[in-house]
Amino acid sequence: MTFLIKGETETWEVVIGLEVHAQVISNAKLFSGAPTDFGAEPNSQVSFVDAGMPGMLPVINEVAVEQAVRTGLGLKAQINKRSVFARKNYFYADLPQGYQISQFELPIVGEGTIILDMSDGTSREVGIERLHLEQDAGKSIHDLHPSKSFIDLNRSGVTLMEIVSNPDMRSPDEAGAYLRKLRSIVRYLGTCDGNMDEGSMRCDANVSVRPVGSTELRTRCEVKNVNSVRFVMQAIEHEARRHVDIYESGGDIQQETRLYDPNKGETRQMRSKEFAHDYRYFPDPDLLPLVFDDDYVESIKATLPELPDEKKERFMSDYDLTAYDAGVLVVEKETSAYYEDVAKGRDPKAAANWVITNLFGALNKKGISITDSPVSAANLGKLIDLISDDTISGRIAKDVFEVMVEEGEDPEFIVDERGLKQIRDTGSIEAAIEQVMADNSDKVEEYRGGKDKLLGWFVGQVMKQTGGKANPGMLNELLRKKLSP
Ligand code: MN
Repeated sequence: MTFLIKGETETWEVVIGLEVHAQVISNAKLFSGAPTDFGAEPNSQVSFVDAGMPGMLPVINEVAVEQAVRTGLGLKAQINKRSVFARKNYFYADLPQGYQISQFELPIVGEGTIILDMSDGTSREVGIERLHLEQDAGKSIHDLHPSKSFIDLNRSGVTLMEIVSNPDMRSPDEAGAYLRKLRSIVRYLGTCDGNMDEGSMRCDANVSVRPVGSTELRTRCEVKNVNSVRFVMQAIEHEARRHVDIYESGGDIQQETRLYDPNKGETRQMRSKEFAHDYRYFPDPDLLPLVFDDDYVESIKATLPELPDEKKERFMSDYDLTAYDAGVLVVEKETSAYYEDVAKGRDPKAAANWVITNLFGALNKKGISITDSPVSAANLGKLIDLISDDTISGRIAKDVFEVMVEEGEDPEFIVDERGLKQIRDTGSIEAAIEQVMADNSDKVEEYRGGKDKLLGWFVGQVMKQTGGKANPGMLNELLRKKLSP
């Protein structure tokens, strides 16, 4: 699964580090009590603190701190019991304070790790450099009026966790796997809803390239604020190829910030290093250092749920699933719970196949999530039971499942109502066989003359005759008996 770019003179590998801004789930902002509901009327969720009124003082939101610690623990990261808030100074109309309160030298969370589950079933480890708390800025709206700009401060002061990875990823696929895994972890933890399309998870990608085999880190460019996993992967690939083209034509890369345009499928310059900000970071004099003890961290640790990696391990050992199947089933907490309801007391591999192949397929087609599934776990379980106790064949089960997806009915009811039960009565199967043999006496002769391959054809014909309902085992046995001279 290596991703290499073949140039004229060299083969290149890409080096990727990601910075994710994840919006913390909390009813209030980081330093004010203003609410944080998505989609509220512009400027309806703004306190004097968020509006940067002179003399207003920030008060730390304890829930936001707890959420950051939870996330750090979920990333198996070091929790720093002493951290410091710093002012990041810059001027912009949607930043009324004139600075963002962030963390700089002493973040709340230090080094951690994330395990990537690749689509071929293999795993890779990526290092987390840090996670720090900071405020979001407001939103400038430039496209509502020909000559005016509008400012919405609802987001001003909302809590963000900036999660910074090491430059450990080597392909767009790995970057995609990283974002999906991070999203899965914060959703399990309940610390961020992970909805990239609503802006509650935004990604900046740092991209550079180097000749394969080299260990240097060349100049990187940062692609800012990409808002879907697919776009991040596309932006990285495009940016890497741009670097290769420039190096191969004898040029050099300038460190700069770029934007990805998904319509054109290309990145373009936003600002170069000459315009890079000097943020004049310094510790915020309005806020004391954030200090807590081991007991506090332990008390949060005690409330952590089983996370995707541990659940995957357990699914592999308890249900004997492959790494791939287990990995797919644990991405969403709701899916893993659904699967366990289906698998309980049944063949766990059959349950995994039904969920992954049939149910996921049907949900994708309808564009709905598992929480809105028309097929309940209890009903999918019953369908598997109907197959294993020979009430219906696997083939009929697929038809029954289709009906379940459309009508949400109980499979037993569907089977009864439509008369789909397997035919297990010898007399009826024999009658169907005799009918087919009478209609195809030439084929019977051929079979008896040594053309064994025709058996499959006969099976198909008798199945057709019985509407697919003959018990396959009995049908085979009876057919062989009847056909033998
Ligand atoms: Mn930031």
